[in-house]
Amino acid sequence: MASDGAPVPVLEARRATKRYRSAAGDVMALSGVDLVVRQGEFVVVIGPSGSGKSTLLNVLAGLDTVDEGKVYYRSRALSDYSDAQRTRLRRRALSVVFQSFELAPLMSCYRNIEFPLLLAHVPRAERRRRVQRIADQLLIGDLLGRRISAVSMGQRQRIAIARALVVKPEVVLGDEITASLDSHSSRRIYALLRRQQRSAGRTFVMVTHDSSLVEPTDRVLHLRDGTLR
Ligand code: ADP
Repeated sequence: MASDGAPVPVLEARRATKRYRSAAGDVMALSGVDLVVRQGEFVVVIGPSGSGKSTLLNVLAGLDTVDEGKVYYRSRALSDYSDAQRTRLRRRALSVVFQSFELAPLMSCYRNIEFPLLLAHVPRAERRRRVQRIADQLLIGDLLGRRISAVSMGQRQRIAIARALVVKPEVVLGDEITASLDSHSSRRIYALLRRQQRSAGRTFVMVTHDSSLVEPTDRVLHLRDGTLR
């Protein structure tokens, strides 16, 4: 808790601005975004395609830099970390579920989910137990021996979510994590994430165009033309 009794800020963006330059002219992907995400919040950022959702997620995760303003993790500016420190931070604390999954197609589903645990030097028996548990929760427990290239897009999406959750991160940042799932499955996955929020105090920042996923307990923000409200 902070001194005012509110949960501590985990991630903060202050006047975060990001411009992309292209032959067709500059695009203002983020336009002075202010955001404070507190520990244990379930934040849903809703916006149409092109509104800046992926850019926001990438700068919050330290995968991309801002042109103006700053992004902080636990009050330390991400720009003060080295690349290696930011990579370690993402392995340990800030797990990202990418829209494109970023899975290794020729490796098994098991190896893909296990990978961050190997990097964290988790012992083998514990890795096995944790991978099986999260896979069962995501209804992919019987797919673990298959290669990624042999499972459906919806199943890959669940594998990518499992890989982000298996390390028990402090914060999960998700980019359209249910884009390949039907609405029933999408709601079930969001329900699993909210249970983790409540039971483990985990913090979630989900960006999506799909407002039907929102529950009354979520903190909902709207992004439009790079501006958050
Ligand atoms: P969303 O995730 O909401 O679809 P993005 O963050 O991907 O939005 O993009 C925001 C704006 O920035 C869009 O106009 C997009 O075309 C532009 N943009 C994103 N990435 C690049 C890039 N690498 N180069 C040029 N423009 C980009």
